[in-house]
Amino acid sequence: MRVYLDNNATTIVDPHVFQEMEPFFVQKYGNPNSLHSFASETHQPLKDAMERIYAGINAPREDSVVVTSCATESNNWVLKSIYFQYILTGRKNHIIVSEVEHPSVMATAKFIESQGCRVTYLPINHEGLIDAQSVRDNITDKTALVSVMMANNETGGIFPVQEIGEICKEYNVPFHTDAVQAVGKIPVNVQSFNVDYLTFSAHKFHGPKGVGGLYIKKGRELIPLLHGGSQMGGLRSGTLNVAGIVGMGKAMEQAIDALDYEMIDVRAMRDNFEDELLKIEDTFVVTPRDKRTPNTILISFRGIEGEAMLWDLNCAGIAASTGSACASEDLESNPVMEAIGADADLAHTAIRFSLSRYTTQEELDYTLEVVKKAVKRLREISSSYAYTPNR
Ligand code: PLP
Repeated sequence: MRVYLDNNATTIVDPHVFQEMEPFFVQKYGNPNSLHSFASETHQPLKDAMERIYAGINAPREDSVVVTSCATESNNWVLKSIYFQYILTGRKNHIIVSEVEHPSVMATAKFIESQGCRVTYLPINHEGLIDAQSVRDNITDKTALVSVMMANNETGGIFPVQEIGEICKEYNVPFHTDAVQAVGKIPVNVQSFNVDYLTFSAHKFHGPKGVGGLYIKKGRELIPLLHGGSQMGGLRSGTLNVAGIVGMGKAMEQAIDALDYEMIDVRAMRDNFEDELLKIEDTFVVTPRDKRTPNTILISFRGIEGEAMLWDLNCAGIAASTGSACASEDLESNPVMEAIGADADLAHTAIRFSLSRYTTQEELDYTLEVVKKAVKRLREISSSYAYTPNR
């Protein structure tokens, strides 16, 4: 049996999405900017897709939604543009991010810092969450941007974007949120809270890879990251990824249709699975369930290296993760576990199971049996487990 429980890394493309994309590879392959029928036959499908995307996040017509190549691009764009607009010009000198942002925010913040900008990295609390108050404590009249994610990719922890948005509004500081792990899992409605920029990525909600987006509120315009053409109103040059945009539109529509299923049924499956995992001795979950996206479990099995557990799971056909997908080739401990100050033994033992609407009960039952066997086997050969104090 093969079981895919790494849906925070990427998801299967929904067959309906694939079906809608297919004609745009070998039949309707025109460049939308050309002046012939090969081009014009892409216009209506692109318009429909954009409408679905706007509707998916409830973006008003007057605001912009720009299609990018991925969330990494969207996140880089916001931070780098703010740097060009405010920091480089000397109008402001400071940005605020959380210390557990995805590397596409974190590494960009570090780059901006290396260029002379002051960066505040907000700490997470013992539940792996951000306290909105910490934004208020750090915001100044020199702050050019606050960037705090909507849901964390490791724990699924939902951050208080509503309160953070309010604080940013009060100080008139632009607020960016990376909603990559939120779309399709919890409601994402740009009109329900104060947000100026919002990032998303199709492959996290059963769309194709290589296409993402950035919502930009009217009046919060950015400097383009890619110059060269008139695509996306000149905000993001490059020949449009027609199949990708059509796919993202359909995926967004499907994600909204499936939101109740995700929030009720997937959550119930996740909770049961988690209950069973927690029955295994010396297991530990950081973020409370009701403060998490419905599909995610980050769990530590004391005494077992995350990589060793992944190996056993993979041998049994099960895909999970130890950290962010981008960090899977090095053996660093889980960044969130480190940030909450978990001791080294726990920080290296975190495994992330992330479900999707395609996950079945049968798959979870099978995974549970494999995990139980792996825990037994690996603890028997673990040098740290027997000697762990305070057990
Ligand atoms: N932001 C978050 C929270 C993510 O989880 C990811 C992917 O893991 C990204 C950004 C990057 O997404 P993309 O693969 O579209 O660049």
